[in-house]
Amino acid sequence: MPAKRTVSRTHSIVRFPRVDGMPDPRYDVVIMGGGLAGLTLALQLKKARPATSIMVAEKRSGPAPSAAFKVGESTVEQSSYYFTDVIGMRDHMETAQHLKSGLRYFWPAQDNRDIVARLEWGPCEFGPDQFQLDRGLFENELMRRNVLAGVHAFDGCRVQEIALGEQEHQVTVSREDELGAADQATVACRWLIDATGRAFTLKRKLGLEKDCPHKINSSWLRLAGGLDIDQLSDDPAWHARMEQPRVRVSSTNHLLGQGYWVWLISLASGPISIGIVADPRFHPFEQISTLDAALEWLSVHEPQLFSVLDVRRDDIEDFLKVEHFSYSSERVYSPERWCLTGEAGVFSDPFYSPGSDFIAASNTFITDFLTRDLDGEQIAERLEGHNVQYLLLYDAFLKLYLDQYQLFGNPRVMVSKLAWEHALYWGVGALRFLNDKFTDMQFTQDVAPALQTALQLNQQIEPLFIRWHELSTAEEGPASYISTTKVPGVGDLQRQLKHRVEDEEALKQMMRANAELLRAFAVLIFHEASKSLPEAQRPPEDARIRPEAMTLDPARWEQDGLFGDDGLTVAEARTRIPGLAEVLSLEQVYA
Ligand SMILES: Cc1cc2nc3c(=O)[nH]c(=O)nc-3n(C[C@H](O)[C@H](O)[C@H](O)COP(=O)(O)OP(=O)(O)OC[C@H]3O[C@@H](n4cnc5c(N)ncnc54)[C@H](O)[C@@H]3O)c2cc1C
Repeated sequence: MPAKRTVSRTHSIVRFPRVDGMPDPRYDVVIMGGGLAGLTLALQLKKARPATSIMVAEKRSGPAPSAAFKVGESTVEQSSYYFTDVIGMRDHMETAQHLKSGLRYFWPAQDNRDIVARLEWGPCEFGPDQFQLDRGLFENELMRRNVLAGVHAFDGCRVQEIALGEQEHQVTVSREDELGAADQATVACRWLIDATGRAFTLKRKLGLEKDCPHKINSSWLRLAGGLDIDQLSDDPAWHARMEQPRVRVSSTNHLLGQGYWVWLISLASGPISIGIVADPRFHPFEQISTLDAALEWLSVHEPQLFSVLDVRRDDIEDFLKVEHFSYSSERVYSPERWCLTGEAGVFSDPFYSPGSDFIAASNTFITDFLTRDLDGEQIAERLEGHNVQYLLLYDAFLKLYLDQYQLFGNPRVMVSKLAWEHALYWGVGALRFLNDKFTDMQFTQDVAPALQTALQLNQQIEPLFIRWHELSTAEEGPASYISTTKVPGVGDLQRQLKHRVEDEEALKQMMRANAELLRAFAVLIFHEASKSLPEAQRPPEDARIRPEAMTLDPARWEQDGLFGDDGLTVAEARTRIPGLAEVLSLEQVYA
């Protein structure tokens, strides 16, 4: 049994425990990679089944630095719930991390030198728990709690070789001591988890890489001293939009334009994380791939932000980049007792901060079948079902972004897109996860029609957004504000997440009602989108629209079955969600 000792090597405020010595010869589970996914999985497994013996091998030696470390700083409802309540990090999140107020978006206006002129979407108040993560602080604390929980979590421990076996797998690691001297050990395990992120240790070995058509690039920096977005203007009316102090600066702020978005995420240790995410068809990677190029790019596309950075170049703490960040995998969980989790598996796009949601989903699936296996249960069907569900979830998320960067600067289409995708996320996915029904197979079967409705509607609506943009003429949004929490049919779905629904039948009913609401929602979006067609081609106002068949191709409407008795008229959809149509048409904004 390795000994525990605490060393402090950096100015990190978290005590970092170093486990001395070498690993034991055998564990139930070996997790390769002690980043966000690996460390949270180890804690989740220990909580679910304390007798499980777990080793984590993390190659980095000593504590992580604060702020200038990794991206993956913005969490949303599902991941926040996962970190606070499932993993048990609430006390750390509430005391050491930043409380967050949702996702906020600004569309382009004039030359982007005045934030007040830009149409704004975002909450006006804090909603259900969400946090911005300083990844260094978080991972150090996760490491500490792993050690306290009895996980053999080794830093300075690099995975060198893997041999998959029928009964047991073998993992060879090298371990550095504090003086840098290395030793090697081979460890046996029943389950092997790859959480080595973009090192793709197992995926490469097994040839599971699957290319992804979504080719987007990013670069980012951390700015010491932070940046309060509220200070970009002293316009009192603009400030008065927020109903609580610090709401705007506590959001994940997105500055949008054609083919790109820029994130601004304030971190608890003081700095702000600023990143550019761009489709190379509009903004070639060379334009953002060095610090000088990225600043030059900002001076052209986001000059107001650039003017702040330009005079504070000495405060820039780091600069990192990634080309073509999306990828997939043929499989993520195997009956041969290995799994990929976190970035070692699949990654779509950070636009809605779903990276940690995917970690939450993946780790929850793994914990479900792995602990059952260790208890002697047959898990083949469960594992296969979770593998399919996880990859389906990935495909569904990818559809939100694929070929859509072109419309990011189009406020008319984007307001409908944001409203729809927030409603879908809150009303279906997050509702299920926050009520701990994610791995309940009976529950999933009972609400399958509602889940399928949501999935099918989304498959239909995403290409419609793309076509709508192609049919639109370029226009700026009004210099105004849409409060997420006040958008009819959207804010209510977020409020449903504030309280756990104890009655299972009531929860099923809510999911079914939300799926029905999404049908009305989709009809209103279709109605708004069809205004981009010549008047003579638009569908009659009194027609019953079946949203499962909606496209902006009038020649296909009859054959696709767009009109039918099980559809809704626009008037019915308006009655179902009063006020939504006015928001989608940008008539009702909250200036
Ligand atoms: C541009 C961009 C922006 C993003 N923004 C967000 C966001 O706002 N919110 C969000 O939720 N997600 C975001 N993500 C996703 C997020 O970064 C990932 O979900 C998260 O960092 C993945 O964590 P992980 O533990 O899988 O990988 P990592 O954190 O990379 O951990 C992998 C660990 O494995 C270790 N390792 C590697 N090889 C070995 C080896 N051979 N032996 C031992 N250890 C090894 C590494 O040292 C590392 O610590 C973003 C991603 C990108 C690309």
